[in-house]
Amino acid sequence: MEILKGVFLVRGEVSNVYLVKVSGGYVSVDAGTPGDYERITAYLRSAGIEASDIKVIVLTHSHWDHAGGLKKLRELTGAKIAAHREEVPYLRGEVGTSRRRFEPVDVDIMLDDGDEVYGLRVIHTPGHTPGSICLLNTSQRSIFVGDLVYEEQGRLREMHHHYSKDPHMNRASIAKLVNYDFDHVMPSHGNPIIGRGREALRQLISELGM
Ligand SMILES: [Zn+2]
Repeated sequence: MEILKGVFLVRGEVSNVYLVKVSGGYVSVDAGTPGDYERITAYLRSAGIEASDIKVIVLTHSHWDHAGGLKKLRELTGAKIAAHREEVPYLRGEVGTSRRRFEPVDVDIMLDDGDEVYGLRVIHTPGHTPGSICLLNTSQRSIFVGDLVYEEQGRLREMHHHYSKDPHMNRASIAKLVNYDFDHVMPSHGNPIIGRGREALRQLISELGM
């Protein structure tokens, strides 16, 4: 589903995958679960997007429901894989995780805060995992937030503490986002918030007493 011009949402079995049109092709934000592969390929067919048009898969973080489908999606597309430097050991399977496991993959592009990857700006927002990132698309005024927050009934919510490695750090990362300029928030769980993304973020911050 094209939710904004050039931004496509593929709903996975657990989390969202976004395809973003950039100059020269598409960026895939996350890769879903291993089982989401069929959903993604079916979507590409229906949208008339060639698999090889996906130039890079950027991971918001290394949890199974975001990175589990990575290996197959890379094989299909030939895309490069980009992730924050601190997430790389988990993706390569060098460091164990308490979460569900998936086939390890190598990372081609290591990201740091402030980097730009195919036109998307990297904002390091640690807490949920050490190398969680948000991706800001300044031309489309949208931000892809991974599991920093999720959407429920039109509002943004803090991820349940149980799911985050450092919930307090995650909260500090939520507060950091108000410094950026965007209108639309694209969460990995729930629906995108179109037009009033900043307002929804401010509301969450005030609910959290920050
Ligand atoms: Zn997660």
